[in-house]
Amino acid sequence: MAVTCCDAPGLMPVADAMAQMLNTISSVTTTECVELSGALNRVLAQSVISPMAVPHFDNSAMDGYAFSSERLDEFTHLTLVGKVFAGDYFSDELKPGECVRIMTGAPLPQGADTVQMQENVMVEPAGIKLLAVPNKGANVRYAGEDIAISQVVLSAGTRIQPGHLGLLASLGIAKLQVKRNITVGIFSTGDELIALGQPLKAGQIYDSNRYFLVALMQRLDVKIIDFGCLADDIDLLRTTLTNAAEKVDVLITSGGVSVGEADFTKTVLDEIGQVNFWKLAIKPGKPFAFGQIQSATRTEPTLFFGLPGNPVSSFVTCHQLVFPALLTLMGEKKSAQITLAAKTQTKLKKRPGRMDYQRGNYTVNAQGEIEVTSTGAQGSGMLTSICQANCYILLAQDQGHVEAGAVVDILPFDKYIS
Ligand code: AMP
Ligand code: MG
Repeated sequence: MAVTCCDAPGLMPVADAMAQMLNTISSVTTTECVELSGALNRVLAQSVISPMAVPHFDNSAMDGYAFSSERLDEFTHLTLVGKVFAGDYFSDELKPGECVRIMTGAPLPQGADTVQMQENVMVEPAGIKLLAVPNKGANVRYAGEDIAISQVVLSAGTRIQPGHLGLLASLGIAKLQVKRNITVGIFSTGDELIALGQPLKAGQIYDSNRYFLVALMQRLDVKIIDFGCLADDIDLLRTTLTNAAEKVDVLITSGGVSVGEADFTKTVLDEIGQVNFWKLAIKPGKPFAFGQIQSATRTEPTLFFGLPGNPVSSFVTCHQLVFPALLTLMGEKKSAQITLAAKTQTKLKKRPGRMDYQRGNYTVNAQGEIEVTSTGAQGSGMLTSICQANCYILLAQDQGHVEAGAVVDILPFDKYIS
């Protein structure tokens, strides 16, 4: 289908904008040392090498009896010579025909190589009778079978998750070198915007964007400075942006990046910084500004992201464009977003010219196939479409309408927005 004049000319593909942004941004270099207990969600500044093997010693995976598998065919009855609990050790060497009572996690005595679980033995006055003969090595956890000594267990750029904390603790690692935290400043712009708690006068609306922008940043665990809501006043915008840039690594604004008469963001940024102002081939979210402001007091320039004012546009561009940029700045090795193929249950309206991030709900049907349904009207002011959805339906730039029954790509909502 032909690309129409209203949708196409001069629009930059999303992938190009992303590549340009990521090329400009490098990770913060300052690092700090944190206790393991305070390391959740921090980004590792250097790879972690295991100082020891895990398990540290051969041990029993079961409560049972340990013995040597040698000449087992000669011994149906094994003589009990001791008992070993987790945290203990058995100092003598076991001879073939002998066994010890052993608990889960207890070290295997020298001479033992196999454990039989207690359910498979009959206890006798002087020992046990094996009801089943186990294979050599049964129910033994070997030293180093999980982690070898000097192995890279976590690589630089890993964002620490709960499982990582357990892994690091199992290696005895109490402190970590992580990337410094970044500070993000947020404000919204618009004469029509009113703070919560005040009655709306004619033509006014509540400032909704700042609430989800702050919350999205909370999900990234950055330090946040909320600069509130600014009127569309070019002098006020210049002063506020200049002052804010001295305090933060990143500034995110919403509104004022279109081409209306009250849209001053680009003008001010051209004066005080370097700006790439883009009309992106993305729906929702066409106008988008990315740039840098070099403040007098900071060594690194402050990154600037000017998001469109329409709430859904602001949300989607923050999640899809600003997040990868911030993760890069924070030093996180980001894994690729995984798209799934899904059969659409509803017709999807689409004009060629922009890449669409429509909002949908996906489910798995009785045959195990993924199906997706549009949340309905896709207006860029309709935040209900975000709240009712569990995925984006991705429709390529040159794609037209999609009939029900066709297969489309979906992007399940990630941990940051679900
Ligand atoms: P703008 O990008 O400033 O031209 O705004 C585009 C649309 O988004 C207008 O309808 C604005 O009223 C609306 N808008 C801008 N900022 C916000 C905000 N913080 N909260 C809710 N709606 C907004
Ligand atoms: Mg505005």
